Amino acid sequence: MLTTCVIAGGGPAGAMLGLLLARAGVEVTLLEKHADFLRDFRGDTIHPSTLQVLDELGLSEEFHRLPLHKAPYLAISNGVTLTPLADFRHLPGAYRYIAFVPQWEFLDLITGAARRLPNFRLIMRAEAYDVITEGGAVRGLRYRDADGEHEVRAALTVAADGRASDVRRAAGLRVRKLGAPMDVVWFRVSRSADDPPDPFLRFAGGAGMVAINRETYWQLAYLIPKGGFDALRARGIERFRASVTALVPFLTGRMGEVGSFADTSVLSVAVDRLPRWHLPGLVCIGDAAHAMSPIGGVGINLAIQDAVATANLVAGPMVRAQRVRTPVVEPMPASLLARVQRRRLPPAAVTQFAQIQIQERVIRPTLAGRRDSARFPAPPAIVRRIVGRFVGLGVLPEHVNREFLAQRHSQ
Ligand SMILES: Cc1cc2nc3c(=O)[nH]c(=O)nc-3n(C[C@H](O)[C@H](O)[C@H](O)COP(=O)(O)OP(=O)(O)OC[C@H]3O[C@@H](n4cnc5c(N)ncnc54)[C@H](O)[C@@H]3O)c2cc1C
Repeated sequence: MLTTCVIAGGGPAGAMLGLLLARAGVEVTLLEKHADFLRDFRGDTIHPSTLQVLDELGLSEEFHRLPLHKAPYLAISNGVTLTPLADFRHLPGAYRYIAFVPQWEFLDLITGAARRLPNFRLIMRAEAYDVITEGGAVRGLRYRDADGEHEVRAALTVAADGRASDVRRAAGLRVRKLGAPMDVVWFRVSRSADDPPDPFLRFAGGAGMVAINRETYWQLAYLIPKGGFDALRARGIERFRASVTALVPFLTGRMGEVGSFADTSVLSVAVDRLPRWHLPGLVCIGDAAHAMSPIGGVGINLAIQDAVATANLVAGPMVRAQRVRTPVVEPMPASLLARVQRRRLPPAAVTQFAQIQIQERVIRPTLAGRRDSARFPAPPAIVRRIVGRFVGLGVLPEHVNREFLAQRHSQ
């Protein structure tokens, strides 16, 4: 099969890049190894930077019809009251809140918009396992599905297949690990009408929790020391339930809903980065280039920003090359793809630096029993606004190139 751009991975980075390039008129094939976008739980947070991108794509109205919860600030709990840490209410622009929306709804929306375009092809249950390399350049991907093994040849191959990227490994690109002291145990407990509405963070007694309101239930993240799940399980479900209700007293009486550890799922947290994101004909974006810690819930948004920056840089040359021959066969030059890394490395590195500071100064001492959010000083308003801006808009926010906006009116 021939295409102009083949993308491995239909997460936030790959889905958004696929939509943007298809809107620009590029022939795109997106490979996703799963049968659907149901992925509980890899983050629900759509930040103002991403809301702005959706607006620029004309998708804001459709997005706001999804079942979402708007949080104008992120808060820390002392077990009774909430203290705001990041305040989004003073951000420039139209979007002054984080929208919590199940990630599959978001991905369905993005891929649904892309599927309306004739030059976009999405292949589900398609697992990329190797790169096609010829003449010193990457020329596409090998993937397998229920029918066997196949090849897709392309001028640009994108690794957007997440932090355990098969494509980057096949291409011989190696990550530098930056480290994370924790893993996360996810579970859910029903919500009652008089619970607080907003998401919050709470840490005390050697444990930490993040609570996300999904209307009928709480999506809860319980932080444990890295590799500590076996020890947690060995202590038994009763001790786990007691530790949760000590942190969040209003859940008392509901923890019986977590019958055993089979009702939880553990996610290993990783923070790492590729020293080199590209080869001739190949670029890595999103978690495949820089795995993010869940701190700040910024991973989806950085992945989207990478997609926007990549599309802004490569769409023009690809569309021009397609005028000569469609699909394009000459690999995209390394000099062009290096510009993606030059543009997106600073935001990724600054954000990871901030996450590592919080991991070391807050999470690690918390898990060692040396911190309690009840004694956390309320930050002054100016600090809350600065944190709100850093979390909500990020470093060097990207905007969709007008070429793509023009496409929106011709659909
Ligand atoms: C515990 C935890 C909680 C998090 N919470 C949040 C949060 O609340 N908010 C937030 O913004 N970020 C959060 N993150 C980070 C966030 O999940 C990632 O940064 C973000 O999803 C990265 O997007 P991506 O598209 O680069 O990769 P991914 O979301 O990982 O998507 C990769 C896609 O590629 C597919 N794939 C993998 N291998 C292949 C293959 N070989 N062939 C084809 N397809 C393949 C996968 O199925 C997946 O669909 C969290 C991370 C963790 C670990």
